[in-house]
Parts: sequence; structure tokens; C-alpha cells
Amino acid sequence: MDILTYLNGGSFHRYSLFGTNILIHGNTGAIWQLDDASWDLLEGQDLAPDIEAEALGELEALAGEAQRGEEAFAKQGAFYAQRLEEEASQIKSLCLNVAHDCNLRCRYCFAGKGAFGGERGLMTSQVGRAAIDLLMAESGPRKHCEVDFFGGEPLLSWDLVRELTAYGKEEATKRGKQIQFTLTTNGLLLDSKKMDFINQEKIGLILSIDGRPSVHDRMRPGVGGAGSHSRVLAKLQEAVALKADDNWWVRGTYTSYNLDFTEDVKYLVEAGFRNISLEPVVTDQDYQLKKADLPKIGEEYKRLASYYLACQREGRPFSFFHFNFDLAKGPCLAKRLSGCGAGHTYLAVSPRGDLYPCHQFVGQGEYKVGTVFTGVQRPQVGESFRSAHIVSKEKCQNCWAKLYCSGGCHANALAKNGDLFLPDELGCEIQRQRLECAIAIHVRANEIGEIPA
Ligand code: SF4
Ligand code: SF4
Repeated sequence: MDILTYLNGGSFHRYSLFGTNILIHGNTGAIWQLDDASWDLLEGQDLAPDIEAEALGELEALAGEAQRGEEAFAKQGAFYAQRLEEEASQIKSLCLNVAHDCNLRCRYCFAGKGAFGGERGLMTSQVGRAAIDLLMAESGPRKHCEVDFFGGEPLLSWDLVRELTAYGKEEATKRGKQIQFTLTTNGLLLDSKKMDFINQEKIGLILSIDGRPSVHDRMRPGVGGAGSHSRVLAKLQEAVALKADDNWWVRGTYTSYNLDFTEDVKYLVEAGFRNISLEPVVTDQDYQLKKADLPKIGEEYKRLASYYLACQREGRPFSFFHFNFDLAKGPCLAKRLSGCGAGHTYLAVSPRGDLYPCHQFVGQGEYKVGTVFTGVQRPQVGESFRSAHIVSKEKCQNCWAKLYCSGGCHANALAKNGDLFLPDELGCEIQRQRLECAIAIHVRANEIGEIPA
């Protein structure tokens, strides 16, 4: 196969964004910036003989690099995949659903408007402590463990959050481990006293807000049906002002109602937030994202990326979670294969102490894997999740993004296709659109010295 056919083949992805020509090799994760002559040559355009010779030389060098890497990566992939499937699970993180209740009634909440489709209820101290004990016992030699206080709204169980933070630290210290806490909240119950505790314990915060008032209020009404935006915004601004470190994100969800979501990110930036995440909704309701929305979503991520770069140039940078990307480190294959860890390194705990592969599965009986009192009784659920990775999924094997994506969300694959091994195509396309922007931002930053937030 000649060089041009090879580089135009299926294992490469080529695109141009912000005036930067980019070539990605899906099988090794290599990223190259192409000059215009190399780009034109790959496009099949006629060039002056001397320019063509120089461009061809450069492309030959890239192709050689790709071919040498390809074989090594294929071997490593098979090796890590086998090792991953053979290794015993060691839990690293727990999502503690300390409250299956909420003081909002968000329409898209997978928590079933705060109650996970079941009884409303708060976790007891006995269940919470047993969950920490399980984490300590099942994390084996791992030194670093994580607990996310989640819900519903975890601040409805504030006393338990305090108790479990102290208990977790005490138990971790006894075993020479370290434990890091995060709390995912709508912020309504935050106050300066709670922020003192959060600062003292260095608890990370994920703060829920969707952006513009009309967007937020449409999807996040309060218990009585009225919008919650003004109350939430004031609380989150106060919390961020009081937060002693940078370990926080505001996190929103976009739906088909706000495909112009750059306006929501702008709103959040103008409101003073500098760490922003915005996720596509996953639902089957009328506001779901559809295939027909993909062109608009792709254009919107580009618009967002332009705004992101403009803010950097103007000296008011912000972080956008999905544009964070470490160009220097490149993909770590072992990490990419283990994916999100749901069901093996990560488990969610319901208020009653039932264990699920992750927060998306809580309340779905067929995915219950055990309890905090019995431990994991159905390891086969986690094993099946662990076996669904970029090497074993046919679609991922042929996807240029596989070494940057980790194989997608198991919960989405099951919800959309009923098959762990068949990723949700809409989610994949959005992932690739975001990745194109993230990679272009960072290649461009390298080239012209703009420092990403
Ligand atoms: S999950 Fe989708 S985007 Fe990710 S590697 Fe697989 S096919 Fe590609
Ligand atoms: S299955 Fe999906 S929602 Fe659950 S932890 Fe993995 S990526 Fe997250």
C-alpha cells in the first residue's frame, strides 16, 4: 500500500479546525499537525514538484512512525486486556447515595426526581459505616480511595456526611491509606458553616446549574414547580467564593431545548465560574438529543471552542471539563482499557446498603451486585462490565477516538442498545465532536503559545 493510501485509511482521522490541520492515528493515539502542502497532498491535489517531494518526505516519516507504533500497541492492547480480565477487582471509589430525596424536582434526574424510582429515604449511620468498611477491606493494597456523597441531594443528610468523613479518615489512617471526598449538590442547603467543614476536610464540590435562567428553570423546578435558578445561582456563587481551593466544578446538562449551549457556558463564565462542565442529557423524553441534532451540536462545540480560545487570549481563561486534554502525556493504554471502572473499581451504594455497578444503575434490581453487609455476591456483573472495553468492542476497534475515549458509558450502551458491547452511537458522535475540538485547542496552544486553562 502506498503512503498516501495508508494515511488516508480507516485507522487515521484527519480534520482541519481553527486553521490547524490535524492527523490522528487511532491505533496508537499519535497526533500530528500537518503543514498545508502535506494536507493538500493527502487531499489528492497537484503540487509543484519540489513542494510535493518535501511533503511526501514528511508524510513518509509520519507513516513510518505510525507503522512502528501500530504493532507494539496491538500487542500491548491484547496483553492489558487479558490482564484486566484476569485481575481480581479492587474497589477504589464508592458513590454513596446518602439521600434518596431532593429539594428540587429536576425533569431529567436519573434519580427519579430524587427518589430513584423507589422510596424516598436517607442512609443510616450503620449503612454508611459498613460502606466505608467495605471500601477499606476491598481496596486491597490501593493507597488512595475516593468517596462521593451523592443523592438525590446529599446535603439532606449533612450530619451523616460529617460523620462518614471523620470515620472514613480515621479508618484510612489506621491502614496507611488516604481518602478523598467529593460532594455532588444543587447547593441550596450550603451555608458558611458547611463551607467551613468542606474547606477543613478538602471536600471537592460538583455544583449543579444549567446556565441561563430560562434554560435552568425549565428543567430544574423546585418542589412546588417554580424555577430554582436565582436561589441556586446565589448559593453557588457564595460557595465558590468561600471555597478555599480549586477543587470544584459547576456542572450542567444540555438538552434538545438548548442546542445553543455555548450561551449557557458564557452565562456561567460571566457569573464568575471558572471550572465548568456541561453534559449531554441521556433520556428518552421529548427533550432527548437526536441524530438530526448532531450537525448543530458539532457546530456548537466549535463555537464553544472559539469562545474558550478567545477568553484565553483576553486573559480571562476558564476550564471546560471536556476540553481538558494532556497532549504531552498521550494515551495510557492500561487506563483506557479499564474505562470508567463501573462494577469493578467503582460501586454505588443505595441508602439501604445495596451495591450497584454505578450511580446510573441504582434501583435496577437486575444489576444489584450485593450489599455493604454481605460484600459483592454477584462478581459476574462487574466482570462483564470489565470485559467490555475498546479491544473487545467491535465498534471501538475501528474508531479513531478509542485511545482518548475509553469505550464509552456502559449505562448508555445498555439503555440505548441493551448490549454492553454496543456503544450508544449518538454518545460516540458527540464524544468525537468534543475530542476534535479539545485536540485542536491543545495543538493550537502548543503552536502559538496559548496556555489552556
Ligand atoms: S465508545 Fe464510541 S467513541 Fe468511544 S471508542 Fe468506542 S466507538 Fe469510539
Ligand atoms: S457506566 Fe457510565 S455513568 Fe456509570 S460510571 Fe461508567 S461512564 Fe459513568
